[in-house]
Amino acid sequence: MTFSLHGIAVSSGIAIGYAHLLSHTSLEVVHYVLPKPLVEEEIARFDAALLATRNEFISLRGNRPQYAAAEFDAFLELHQMILDDPLLSVSPRDMIATEHCNAEWALKTQTEKLVAQFDEFEDAYLRERQTDVTQVAERLLKQLLGQPGHQPAPTRHDVETILVAHDLSPADLIQFRPQQYAAFITDLGGATSHTAIVARSLNTPCVVGLHHARELLREDDLLILDGEQGVLIVNPDKAILAEYKLRQSAWDLERKKLKRLRGARANTLDGSTIELYANIEKPDDLVEVKENGATGIGLFRSEFLFLNRDVLPDEEEQFQAYKAVAVGMEGQPVTIRTFDLGADKQLKGAERVANNPALGLRAIRLCLSEPQLFRTQLRALLRATHYGNVRILVPMLSGAAEINQTLQFIAATKQSLDDEGIPYDREVKIGGMIEIPAAALALNVFAKRLDFLSIGTNDLIQYTLAIDRTDEEVAHLYDPLHPAVLHLLSHVISTANKFGIPVSVCGEMAGELGYTRLFLGMGLRQFSMSSAQVPGIKQRVLTTSLPEIAALTQKILRADDPLKIRELLEKLNSQ
Ligand code: PEP
Ligand code: MG
Repeated sequence: MTFSLHGIAVSSGIAIGYAHLLSHTSLEVVHYVLPKPLVEEEIARFDAALLATRNEFISLRGNRPQYAAAEFDAFLELHQMILDDPLLSVSPRDMIATEHCNAEWALKTQTEKLVAQFDEFEDAYLRERQTDVTQVAERLLKQLLGQPGHQPAPTRHDVETILVAHDLSPADLIQFRPQQYAAFITDLGGATSHTAIVARSLNTPCVVGLHHARELLREDDLLILDGEQGVLIVNPDKAILAEYKLRQSAWDLERKKLKRLRGARANTLDGSTIELYANIEKPDDLVEVKENGATGIGLFRSEFLFLNRDVLPDEEEQFQAYKAVAVGMEGQPVTIRTFDLGADKQLKGAERVANNPALGLRAIRLCLSEPQLFRTQLRALLRATHYGNVRILVPMLSGAAEINQTLQFIAATKQSLDDEGIPYDREVKIGGMIEIPAAALALNVFAKRLDFLSIGTNDLIQYTLAIDRTDEEVAHLYDPLHPAVLHLLSHVISTANKFGIPVSVCGEMAGELGYTRLFLGMGLRQFSMSSAQVPGIKQRVLTTSLPEIAALTQKILRADDPLKIRELLEKLNSQ
């Protein structure tokens, strides 16, 4: 029987293959009571499984595959810490001793308690860590049941295999070489889960949040996974299969064709050069940056170095990360943003939960209130400027006082490096993100004090329309084409151009094909997006003539009816 399931699209591409189901051991746990003389033995069995799981993590860390990103180490570290949490490593022992139950049951019961504690967290990031707890408990349970690790995929050279799991941890994922599976699908998980991030970095189609896929699917069911639309089609008939085979070939061909543009300059038909930069989260992302032909880094979200860890990266660790990117880009611009922590990216253990974190102590506000943390980062950043074309970008600035204070911090840090005779680029450019409507409207304040600007549309839209970008209940109101948003964008770009101060857009809008011509018409010449989007946007630039889009862009900016705006934009894009 053919049926389809819908989930959250996490990594694009189309995969066609046979289902391989990953066992989900916690569904198989039974409860029994042991005779008293056997209780000690049961505790020893639990201890042995605990030790074996610890060793499994050590061996995973030691055998980290080359293709695996450095962040896997952080995931493994987190999972090792969870394993050592007394609720997982001690409480089950106590329960076996007092209730004489089997070890699997004790572990399952204690895990549920721990997961319930995570449910109470207000913070979405912390809540999501309950998935990590379940994954670690699963691993320990497998040891108890005598089925450690995961079953390898059946070796079928003639067909592709799609891995179907109730849940998949990043640690699980690194055991599967990317070419072993055509795609990954899971019942659990959200777009921001670690597993989603890893799947994207492996460039393998992936859909998460399918709820009951693991239950409904059978081993060897034929599957079609559309990683773009988040759709899974089970046992398709011949017509559907033929249709998706065509779509798959077209998609692969399109990707290949686009990648051929890698070395080409992004010039418009009338000869203007447009800079297409990449957004990155960690130094390892440079491989993708090069593969897709980005000509610089427009946004290095440095806060990702700070997440998921108990001990924050010190100056030397940060310096090595920034230097690696500076050197790797061989003189091309590298824009490193000072950490944008707070809101949905909280430091581990940060107890204070604000009522309204997106409007609270976030980004530069947090930096200025934590001078030691900020100084350490600035030292690392300035030292890295000596090794490449590094620029420093400051997020979420709202006005003159914050800019002045930030510049004073930078000046003082330069002085301390001078005192120690440590080299850095004395001409390093300092830029500000335009993410708050106040910043967009009082742009003169920014243009007078800073060397360049970068528009963060993700936050600018959130703050302009008063829509929490992490709240799915109001997601439908998140409208990049709202006239107020378009006016602000156009105002910032034209004012910056008037002042002769470089301006780019580094929010998600910059990587969306539908907005490329609109931005070009507004006068934007620098875009920054995730690496995989660069070739598509380049193709759009190559087929655009600036004089031809000028009049229609102005018409869109004058329109205030949402339908009219969309109609005109469609016309602009089909020119
Ligand atoms: C933005 O707000 O558009 C941006 C690029 O920053 P982030 O998405 O990291 O908040
Ligand atoms: Mg932002």
